[in-house]
Amino acid sequence: MFKNISSYDEIELKQNALLIFDIDETIMRFDGISRNWWINKLNEYYNIHQDHKKANDCALKEWIDHIKLNKAKLIDREKLFNIFSKALSEYNCEIIFITARHIDMKDMTEKHFEECDISEYIHKIYYNENKGILLKELLEDKYKNHKDIIFIDDSIKKLENIYSINNDNENHNLSLYLFNY
Ligand SMILES: [Mg+2]
Repeated sequence: MFKNISSYDEIELKQNALLIFDIDETIMRFDGISRNWWINKLNEYYNIHQDHKKANDCALKEWIDHIKLNKAKLIDREKLFNIFSKALSEYNCEIIFITARHIDMKDMTEKHFEECDISEYIHKIYYNENKGILLKELLEDKYKNHKDIIFIDDSIKKLENIYSINNDNENHNLSLYLFNY
């Protein structure tokens, strides 16, 4: 269903493809938030509240408070810029970002893109927790002319959701990459 990669140069580009990146832990990270941060926080809050929804809300609030105060950093600037420039100049791809961040975080997200020097892309960020549904809508409308769709995300759950909703789309070929740095 998806290919595991630990570096952007493992992405197999295709001519005229739509190249889609997740944001958090796929292109961007924050000091103080490790890959295990969410698992640890969810456990911590679950032990306090004994409720998954409450634990998730508390962890999300703490995460938002943290990223509000900390500067965003690209995970691997050199390789990300390499794949961006190769995708645009050699493969004629279009690059967009799909994040599960809430639309309320738009201003903060645009600030993070500015901090990472990639603010030329802020008009290509789409916000929706259900990435599969959002992608389906985008492929029926705005991006219907792209045959090949390449999606890079660090979350297995998100990739499973994208796959389950878009895999039987006859007009598009979907390539999914699980990014783990
Ligand atoms: Mg992510």
